[in-house]
Amino acid sequence: MTTVTVSGALPEDPYDVVIVGAGVVGCAIARRLAHHPELRVALVEARDDVGQGTSKANTAILHTGFDAVPGSLEARLVRTGSRELAAYAAESGIPVEPVGALLVAWDEEQLAALPRLAEKAARNEYHDTRVLGPADLYAREPHLGPGALGALHVPGESVICPWTTTLAYATQAVRAGVHLHLEAPVAHAGHHDGVHHLTTPRGTVRARRLVNAAGLHADTLDRQLGHDDFTVTPRRGQLIVHDTFARALVRHILLPVPTALGKGVLVAPTVHGNVLLGPTAEDLDDKGATESTAEGLHRLREQGRRILPALLEEEVTAVYAGLRAATEHDDYRITAHPGQGCVTVGGIRSTGLTASLAIAEHVTGLLAGTGLDLGPQRPPEPVRMPSLGETCPRPHQRPDLVAADPEYGVLVCHCERVSRGEIRDALASTIPPRGLDGLRRRTRARAGRCQGFHCGAALRELFEEARR
Ligand SMILES: Cc1cc2nc3c(=O)[nH]c(=O)nc-3n(C[C@H](O)[C@H](O)[C@H](O)COP(=O)(O)OP(=O)(O)OC[C@H]3O[C@@H](n4cnc5c(N)ncnc54)[C@H](O)[C@@H]3O)c2cc1C
Repeated sequence: MTTVTVSGALPEDPYDVVIVGAGVVGCAIARRLAHHPELRVALVEARDDVGQGTSKANTAILHTGFDAVPGSLEARLVRTGSRELAAYAAESGIPVEPVGALLVAWDEEQLAALPRLAEKAARNEYHDTRVLGPADLYAREPHLGPGALGALHVPGESVICPWTTTLAYATQAVRAGVHLHLEAPVAHAGHHDGVHHLTTPRGTVRARRLVNAAGLHADTLDRQLGHDDFTVTPRRGQLIVHDTFARALVRHILLPVPTALGKGVLVAPTVHGNVLLGPTAEDLDDKGATESTAEGLHRLREQGRRILPALLEEEVTAVYAGLRAATEHDDYRITAHPGQGCVTVGGIRSTGLTASLAIAEHVTGLLAGTGLDLGPQRPPEPVRMPSLGETCPRPHQRPDLVAADPEYGVLVCHCERVSRGEIRDALASTIPPRGLDGLRRRTRARAGRCQGFHCGAALRELFEEARR
């Protein structure tokens, strides 16, 4: 039996471990703890779905960690997590495209920086970089704007589907017995008599161990537990999504040469066949400021014009913004508080998707260090996720599947070619969507150029029917 709740009173019996926050990091930790079937584990999330925070709005790159700060915890976890997630994606059907990245130098100073970046990559144990001259660069990227002087090729960088990743972790965890409680915002956390008491509008959850994976709000939860280790400053990244017609314009992830201000604006293909332009980097006070601004989009278009002029002529299907959990520190803030039986997973900035599996392993080790008896280990049943990627055939393109189940041959969303069979499967899945946006993240329905103008009503009807 699987347990996913969205309403009603929460269980009163104390859990062994409660994880607060069902982003990609919290879900990865839940999945990792599901390797220990004797542990009673719950994942508690404020919103109505997994992956609704920063995890749904990033640039979806599976980084190699070539440009991390050598020796940092982030560098180590990105390096290991990257390899682990690539293997997990292959096993679980999460779309990944190993397109490689090019760090393009637009002036002499940037060109001079490329060998130093190659050396930094080597210090991060990544040895496959190569400096390319302009002829080689333009042969690889014929639509690149004029004036580029060279590039550093990083062949190991890939693009991945962030929504399927989070959902795969959560699905596997729930099927292995982890309780997922959605719509359960933790308003207050207290610890007495060796037990954590987490107050939510649906009652109090109790746990012997607590993992704080609350993303942008990890500092608030931490302070309630008496710690003052870091402050999260949301760093907004706005992005523009171009229609699939633009996909032929770009073959690699095109990165700028990084500066002290961050990684800068990139142009990148997505596994869904789109092209992304962004993100901005704006430090804000408001942890809910995920709106796009005219000024931000204007600046992105100006920068995009230099990188890939023809992209500006292509249609935009969507704009979105995500908030990175930046702190005053240069590294992740993952800290165990053994006396209190809790682990804080804070400051998971621009690389948390890539590092998620390695963070989960690290946190499990820290939990064991607090005296938690993990019990025997048995890997959870593998999951096989519906593939949303453009590089493998969609269900309606597979005669075998359509013959066995004609629902896969009936298209509902024509822009993204999503069949009624896929929508039916998503609505009946282990963690079903609670709205049309959740359905989009599971199937791509309404993500195309018409943004649901044609299929919206039919989708709503299927959605309402499944809820009856
Ligand atoms: C613009 C942008 C680009 C990025 N690009 C990349 C990239 O290319 N590659 C990469 O690897 N990473 C990238 N990242 C970083 C990556 O997205 C994050 O590191 C990762 O999503 C963080 O996951 P999380 O689980 O820590 O946080 P979140 O996804 O924010 O999850 C935290 C969850 O906690 C919940 N929560 C908070 N408070 C409470 C509470 N009190 N009670 C209950 N629940 C609570 C929230 O609702 C949320 O669902 C990017 C980020 C941004 C913003």
